[in-house]
Amino acid sequence: MIRKTLPIPADSAGTSHELTILRFKPDQPQAKIYLQAALHADEQPGMLVLHHLIERLSEAEKDGRLQAEFVVLPMVNPLGMAHLAFGKHRGRYHPLNGLNYNRDWPDLDAMIHQNGADFSDQLTDDPIHNQTIIRQAVKAALADQTPKTALSRLRHMVISEAYDADMVLDLHCSDDALNHIYIVPQLLPEYQDLSDWMQSAATMTAEDSGGGSFDEVWPGLWLKCARRYPDAAWPDLICAATLEYRGEDAVDHATNRKDAEHLFQFLAARGYISGASAELPAVPPTPGAKPTPLTAVEYLRADRPCLVVYHKPLGAHVKTGDVIAELLSLEGDDAFTGKTLLRAGTDGIFFDRSLIKLAWPDHIVAKIAGTTPLVHDDSYLLSD
Ligand SMILES: [Zn+2]
Repeated sequence: MIRKTLPIPADSAGTSHELTILRFKPDQPQAKIYLQAALHADEQPGMLVLHHLIERLSEAEKDGRLQAEFVVLPMVNPLGMAHLAFGKHRGRYHPLNGLNYNRDWPDLDAMIHQNGADFSDQLTDDPIHNQTIIRQAVKAALADQTPKTALSRLRHMVISEAYDADMVLDLHCSDDALNHIYIVPQLLPEYQDLSDWMQSAATMTAEDSGGGSFDEVWPGLWLKCARRYPDAAWPDLICAATLEYRGEDAVDHATNRKDAEHLFQFLAARGYISGASAELPAVPPTPGAKPTPLTAVEYLRADRPCLVVYHKPLGAHVKTGDVIAELLSLEGDDAFTGKTLLRAGTDGIFFDRSLIKLAWPDHIVAKIAGTTPLVHDDSYLLSD
């Protein structure tokens, strides 16, 4: 394992950040696997999952069993880690401009086709050759950039490491949740095994959720190139996904070690680690959820300042009309006596809820993954 620490000058004078990259590189890797955690810096379960995965990869490396290069960034957002204020750690939004750290990642297809650039006369019927041409163009475009802010420097480092990966896994968590996945629909059912190994309660698909999420960058490049150059041959779409590992407080060795073990087994079953198959069950212990469009996820929101009391537990399979929670009134004539019942507007699994119980107007109290699309304007499908 090679450890690299990259300094990132901060936007404020007299301080700097540090990005740690851990790399496992066998002599003849068949692929490159990129994993990161805590892009939302307040989401720590993924950091401990990757800690345990690093242990397993180190053992496999010693035994000569790695078939792929693994690049692991367990704390990919040192800027967000620095966001300590008034006795709390934040880390979801960049304090300088309010940007959600998992939004507005660049469109690499647009980046390499600026100023009318066109690669058609370099593309052939060889998918690997064409992939190389496009990756070289991304590399050249990155080399032309001169990031100035700490955030743009960090993003440049991250993209420079991930752009030529064959698999990109971005580990997050939610407030208080069961494991779930966001992935582009074109990767299913091929990568249903990822959902199965993760024992995902919901597998939600969108090619473009509207927010420029990190995981959508990588398949997005190849989907757009395939549309732009329909006569050229392309390799199978690279796998990228946002893996949501439970809720913010789900940081403990037993839970995170098990999730790391399942991730390791997924990678081994995919052939990136050899000699581990004897340890593996033929199928994962609990099948993950089948894919459902992100448009079929219901966000149940509070309509006033209130105290939330849940009636249903996470994991409940609910029907339209079921009471998910009650909202206790905190002001006006019915303060502390009146309440509103928050009911499911769809059939599905209740997989995600608020960690804090004090809610405000529009605050998301519950997420239900159904199967019937609920929104017709699919231009922005994320909750913030
Ligand atoms: Zn997140």
